[in-house]
Amino acid sequence: MSEPLLRFAPSPNGRLHLGHAYSALLNDRVARDLGGRWLLRMEDIDPVRATAANIRGVLDDLDWLGLRWPEPVRFQSEHMEEYGAAADRLRGAARLHPCSCSRGDGAGAVAAREATGEVWPRDPDGSPLYPGTCRAAPAGPVSGLIAAGERCQWRLDMDAASRVAGPLGWTRFGLDGREEAVAARPERWGDAVLVRKDVPTSYHLSVVADDARQGISHVVRGRDLEAATDLHALLAALLGLAPPRYHHHALLLDADGLKLAKSRDSRSLRAMRDAGETAGAIRLRLGFT
Ligand code: GLU
Repeated sequence: MSEPLLRFAPSPNGRLHLGHAYSALLNDRVARDLGGRWLLRMEDIDPVRATAANIRGVLDDLDWLGLRWPEPVRFQSEHMEEYGAAADRLRGAARLHPCSCSRGDGAGAVAAREATGEVWPRDPDGSPLYPGTCRAAPAGPVSGLIAAGERCQWRLDMDAASRVAGPLGWTRFGLDGREEAVAARPERWGDAVLVRKDVPTSYHLSVVADDARQGISHVVRGRDLEAATDLHALLAALLGLAPPRYHHHALLLDADGLKLAKSRDSRSLRAMRDAGETAGAIRLRLGFT
């Protein structure tokens, strides 16, 4: 087997917090335990939030924690053509459909059905499944957008894609080296957006394309992404890519039992550092020497 290769892949949409530090340090430790390396990948596809200042902040925080990684860092924003080509392949195989629904449209359609007493399914993140509005009406408003050459989002036709791919699974690995086959259930997700309106990709499409392109053998990431692995296994199968093995680590929770997230005012590493905490103390607190 070739050298184990891992990656730490933050979205530089804000400053890193303790949860990111844990994930990065764990990647570093697992890579060493496996006798491999880890790469740093900036998932900077969001044109508004992934600012140069945030990217500099992430690099600075990781460096401060004492982590080192091989250069060059892969910046997803520099590879939009590759993701566009992957989307074109899926489009060519009729696995994507255009959609002009805003979040509000989707929520409205679901609310209307629920008002009649229908119980509408949720995806594992708790959002209502896409109600299929544009898929059911390809000649509707979305066709006007396309005819006018305007951008729209493109969703994976989950029923068609799951049927073509057949039963799927992914491999979970434990830190004790044990591996386990897990059945994938991508249908839990409904028609996921693979191409956003503002950029020619999405988190799901670029993460799968990049893990394969970079030859990642082992993914270590938070348990909040475990359910999305269903979708990642499906995408890898549709694109004919070799999937990595996955380890989803427990999430650090804040005092209220909520996941630490940039959006919820959890203290950033930068703020802790400014308050006088040392990188060594943070490493120890997270269980790393
Ligand atoms: N970029 C994602 C995040 O910061 C993580 C992607 C992954 O590890 O698959 O949440």
